[in-house]
Amino acid sequence: MLNKVTAPTAEIAFIDLQAQRRRLGSRIDDAIGRVLGHGQFILGREVETAEAELGAFCGAPNVVSCANGTDALLLVLMAKGVGPGDAVICPAFTFAAPAEVIALRGASIVFADIVEATFNLDPESLKKAIAVAKANGLRPRAAIAVDLYGQPADYDAIEPILRDEGMFLVGDTAQGFGATYMGRKTGTFGLATSTSFFPAKPLGCYGDGGAIFTADAELDAVLRSIRMHGQGTDRYEHARIGFNSRLDALQAAILVEKLAIFGEEIEARNRVAERYANGLRDVVGVPEVADGCVSVWAQYTIRVTGRNRDVFRAALSAEGIPTAVHYPRALHRQTAFKDQLTAEPALRVAEAVAEDVVSLPMHAYLDEETQDRIIDGVRRAARN
Ligand SMILES: *Cc1c(COP(=O)(O)O)cnc(C)c1O
Repeated sequence: MLNKVTAPTAEIAFIDLQAQRRRLGSRIDDAIGRVLGHGQFILGREVETAEAELGAFCGAPNVVSCANGTDALLLVLMAKGVGPGDAVICPAFTFAAPAEVIALRGASIVFADIVEATFNLDPESLKKAIAVAKANGLRPRAAIAVDLYGQPADYDAIEPILRDEGMFLVGDTAQGFGATYMGRKTGTFGLATSTSFFPAKPLGCYGDGGAIFTADAELDAVLRSIRMHGQGTDRYEHARIGFNSRLDALQAAILVEKLAIFGEEIEARNRVAERYANGLRDVVGVPEVADGCVSVWAQYTIRVTGRNRDVFRAALSAEGIPTAVHYPRALHRQTAFKDQLTAEPALRVAEAVAEDVVSLPMHAYLDEETQDRIIDGVRRAARN
């Protein structure tokens, strides 16, 4: 790379969407041009194509696109009639959306702890959460398992627990779409799986978007109705209470182009993750991927246990290396959720990791020179 001039302090991108756009060349512009040409902006042929190709990619027989990843979760809870008196269990360490939708339905949240090695829902804590729900006179209906940072939750451990209780599972793969668990892609576990196409997710569009994957054809039909104001057999027959949550054609057209290179991008992200792990594991806590799993690395999140995280991040920032904290506080410690139930009085792992996680730049177009700058920067910051 002879002509590559990178000043040592040039600002590195945390996620580089422009590099992806350059790789796609005129394909995105052409796809947008086609939609502008035919003028059907909501649902329509691009949305149908996107749904079919997303399903083919992950192996889900039915795909219902919608306006965003939060709605995707909400739509499933609505379709199943989750409401007051029901308890839904979700991990305490995640983005807030899964907890929000439970509360929006008027149901009760029971927060469960996570497994330290994977940051994902702890099956043992899930059992305790179910017992807490019952002890509080609630009906345990469902659990939402999040594929945090791009790694699948432990579906083989979670599914039997829920089945024995007559509960259903919703996978939240907003960060994990494209990831593999024991040879199967996320989107094929539980009753249904939600995802998000927010631009910064591993598979993102250029606005908001989301989808639900399910093998249940009846659920598929109800979800399609709810996303269109509860539409019945024709547009102005309302069979149920719904709302407006649709993917637009521009976003769908963009998504189809990005999906075509997503498999290669997942491989590139895994190469970055491997180099990070090899360069960093002796100085900080590096993320582990469970046996039988392939992560899509929505985030590459290290732990700086025993150090001052703010000082550590400031040292990197001074070298032009951006970092982020996903997430600085467990959900049961947030004002919005402080009155909700927890599986145990203290959710020790969720509380501990919130203190010391740091996410490093991660995307498919991070070249080796930049990776090395980041690795060297982290090593220097860790020595101080
Ligand atoms: C981003 C995200 C969501 C919400 O997706 P939006 O499209 O932003 O509504 C839900 N769950 C998780 C785990 C997420 O990371």
